Amino acid sequence: MPNDWKLPWEGGCLCGSIRFLVSAPPLLTLACHCSWCQKRSASAFSPVISLPGSGFGITRGQPEAGWTPSEHRHFFCPRCKNWLFLAVSGADIVNLRATMLDEHRWFAPYAEIFAQNRLPWVSTAARHSFSGMPDARTFESLMQSFALEGARPAS
Ligand SMILES: [Zn+2]
Ligand SMILES: [Zn+2]
Repeated sequence: MPNDWKLPWEGGCLCGSIRFLVSAPPLLTLACHCSWCQKRSASAFSPVISLPGSGFGITRGQPEAGWTPSEHRHFFCPRCKNWLFLAVSGADIVNLRATMLDEHRWFAPYAEIFAQNRLPWVSTAARHSFSGMPDARTFESLMQSFALEGARPAS
């Protein structure tokens, strides 16, 4: 599979204190409709890009971990308080908020999770929909098909 992801990608928070670089292809893109994501994002759902930890690096500033009810660590800009990404517990995976990328118009959620909690008027066009959190095997197969047919940055 050729690298048609137009890497690296740059991004940052609203105020610019935090900047980061993505240097590896994403593993999966998601829309998460869970109530925690609705709270954190102050929005209908969270747009997620799952990245291998080795392909994500902070190039400016120091994100701060915030309080969370989940086992994952969520990181924010200490100045503008933007929610930037989470470090998945027990895995070398970073779930980046897609709209933190400078160029994010290509983003489309390949799957949506916690659809049971989706606001009635929301439609994401995700190819796969799960009422809750898929199991590890399902995520594996989603990642395999995403690598072949997931949305990519336009040329
Ligand atoms: Zn969520
Ligand atoms: Zn900021």
